[in-house]
Amino acid sequence: MATPENKRLPRKDLPPDARIETLAVREGLPATQWGENSEALFLTSSFNHPDAATAAARFANEEEAFVYSRFTNPTTMMFERRLAALEGTEACIATASGMSAILLLVMGLLKSGDHIVCSQSVFGSTISLLQGQFGKFGVQTTFVSQTDVQQWRDAMQPNTKLLFAETPSNPMTEVCDIAALAEIAHSAGALLAVDNCFCSPALQQPVKLGADLIIHSGTKYLDGQGRVLAGAVCGPDAIINGPLMATLRGAGMTLSPFNAWVVLKGLETLSIRMAAQSANALKLAQWLELQPAIDKVYYPGLPSHPQHALAMQQQSGSGGAVLSFTLKPSTGEITVTGPQGLSDEALRLRQAAFHVIDHTRLCSITSNLGDTKTLITHPSSTSHGRLQEVQRLAAGVTQAMVRVAVGLEHIDDLTADLARGLDTLST
Ligand SMILES: *Cc1c(COP(=O)(O)O)cnc(C)c1O
Repeated sequence: MATPENKRLPRKDLPPDARIETLAVREGLPATQWGENSEALFLTSSFNHPDAATAAARFANEEEAFVYSRFTNPTTMMFERRLAALEGTEACIATASGMSAILLLVMGLLKSGDHIVCSQSVFGSTISLLQGQFGKFGVQTTFVSQTDVQQWRDAMQPNTKLLFAETPSNPMTEVCDIAALAEIAHSAGALLAVDNCFCSPALQQPVKLGADLIIHSGTKYLDGQGRVLAGAVCGPDAIINGPLMATLRGAGMTLSPFNAWVVLKGLETLSIRMAAQSANALKLAQWLELQPAIDKVYYPGLPSHPQHALAMQQQSGSGGAVLSFTLKPSTGEITVTGPQGLSDEALRLRQAAFHVIDHTRLCSITSNLGDTKTLITHPSSTSHGRLQEVQRLAAGVTQAMVRVAVGLEHIDDLTADLARGLDTLST
């Protein structure tokens, strides 16, 4: 390595059994000679060498040093070490976005002729990347049910190298059994990667359940305040500092040091934000279940959720901070428009969802998640807008569905904000 390795090294000032809250504010690199207390932002593209011979040694991998920020930078490395510590993995590699983390994972580990088994309920762009882009290069993906473990087993082929899951899913909040998928992967000599975006390591550490690699969109809860795009892959040193580092070095899906610094500081408050936002989400879900205009609430923290028991066990007893609900159809005159071919019944459902969304004043109408501000969105016409209605319905995403990524506002202000639309809906 021409650069210091981005793996966790024992730190003299950290207790060996330091807990996640401690690691989140303390893990990183030692301070510089100036003794700064807050981590420094090294906004530099390259690093100087004291003389030509040292430069030669560093380029020949004979001496460890920072060389060039495409493959390593001290601020980025602090983020990598801190996230690896939280996920409980040996190493981590930061990327420009969540999607580039998945790009790096598959580009680094698979080759033409290899096969992936992936949940059909993963993030939409993940499906496009695997099916569309990697399909072009001869990597095939079979998409299977989020919750039916037998379908994963049946989809395995001799050339299956990777299983890819994301739990809970968006927007249905379906939970998959990480330990069961790890067993299927390992008995076939394949690896299990889990996109841990929705829970973050504050609620779920997939490695403890047998997953090999963790994917993050740092854009969501790791930043936590909707400021920057970021991503990461966490896993064993042999993979992260082996094929993934070699791929990142050549392909350059690197996280900017500035964005790394923002997310690094975001990690410091991750545990308390996740706890507070999840507590808010549970209260909101319980309140929504009682509202007459609501048809169904989807939230893993509710006993009515089909995988409630698994979620409680896998997610540190928390349902997370994202929930969805469906409304009963609006009975008034149809005033909304929709894509061609949508039935009157579907338009009545869409009208009810739009009514509730448009009567909020506090919630932000945006499809992002993982912000301290509560975000509200209509999946059918936004994140799932490019699918056919039949595909949406197969995924359970009806026109009546509203997704809420719950933030830090006071719960009474949030219920009042949603009540404005729910109470004036004619159903
Ligand atoms: C947002 C998201 C991604 C993609 O992350 P970007 O940072 O937007 O590239 C991947 N997976 C999940 C679950 C997400 O929510």
